Amino acid sequence: MPSHSGPPPLRRLIVPGLFVAALFAVVIFRQPGGAVLHERVLTGSSMGTSYMVKVVVGDDDGAVGDRLSVMIENVLTDVDHAMSTYIESSEVTVFNRQGAGDIAVSDALLEVVGEAQRVARLSGGAFDITVGPLVDAWGFGPRGETNPPSDETIGALLAITGFEHIAVDRDRGRLSKGSPEVQIDLSAIAKGFAVDKVVDALVHSGQTDFMVEVGGEVRASGRNADRRVWRIGIERPDDGGRSVHTAVPLANLALATSGDYRNFVVRNGVRVSHTIDPRIGRPISHDLASVSVIHASCMTADALATALEVLGPEEGVALASSYDIPALFLVRLENGAFDELRSPMWSALIENVASGDRVDLGGS
Ligand code: FAD
Repeated sequence: MPSHSGPPPLRRLIVPGLFVAALFAVVIFRQPGGAVLHERVLTGSSMGTSYMVKVVVGDDDGAVGDRLSVMIENVLTDVDHAMSTYIESSEVTVFNRQGAGDIAVSDALLEVVGEAQRVARLSGGAFDITVGPLVDAWGFGPRGETNPPSDETIGALLAITGFEHIAVDRDRGRLSKGSPEVQIDLSAIAKGFAVDKVVDALVHSGQTDFMVEVGGEVRASGRNADRRVWRIGIERPDDGGRSVHTAVPLANLALATSGDYRNFVVRNGVRVSHTIDPRIGRPISHDLASVSVIHASCMTADALATALEVLGPEEGVALASSYDIPALFLVRLENGAFDELRSPMWSALIENVASGDRVDLGGS
């Protein structure tokens, strides 16, 4: 029997669309002039995982936190109801069940699928949202399969895998697929999109200093209550471990991490990752434990992190270097330690944020 070691227990308990009541906490900082800043911490659950938002407010009468909490939950529910493969009535499930041809979908879904297709092309198909049936077959999707697929099944699923089977028509607001069996899975990009949408809502409501995290994907704006740049921890990719490998200063940017250390199964003593290489139809098997990517868009950072995780240490570092992607690679060594590889843009960005300079992230 495979032993599920990865997904946090929370993910197994969540009823899609139902939020656990948000928890509230306040951290208070007194400024040199006597002014007091509060860091409101809002937490809850969505998309089979947890979220945490910290907002710096000057006047905390409790109502601010309540109002923002409702707003955040509404934003996350909208994304979940559009993009979940775990909800029967979501736009993605409806698209997956329809025959060949096109259907009208929301602007949000067009935006996410459009960006997914761009990252698919950029990564030579290492990132591919049509990987859904393979994810299911390997036991990591909503169906929860427990036996590995046969070579014959993998061959059949590869025939319906490939980003070229999907087309996005932004002008007509339609999404199409080439054959009825083609399915999409937005698990590696939609959480990042959700972070971006929460950020947009916070900015729209007048907030300037905050940090948004959904399932490990993060975006930070302005400063924390201590008036310093937000520092975000990158986990040491130990199995089930929760220690911090390093902390990254994040100034108005997003940080997303993809890894095999939380969500995997062990079959016959072999570790099976939830990250699938769509080009061969099998889980990745190299020693790259995690990849973290910094980008202005959390949606893009999320997708690029999975793309680089699929490509592995050599190809991944080469792609990140040639497209100026700030990326940190943690490679598992035999002695249990981790080798740290940084793309040139990662080093430049971290050094410059620390010194207060700006770095142009380019177009990747
Ligand atoms: P990431 O590295 O960010 O993504 C890995 C995931 O992407 C894999 O699990 C697989 O689904 C997919 N993937 C694998 N290989 C590739 C590839 N080569 N290219 C593209 N994609 C790939 N989980 C639940 O248990 N219950 C829920 O109700 C639930 N609802 C969700 C709703 C939404 C809208 C989303 C986006 C996800 C939901 N999930 C749910 C899934 C859960 O949150 C995922 O485990 C999570 O999104 C994976 O994120 P990660 O950060 O662990 O891994």
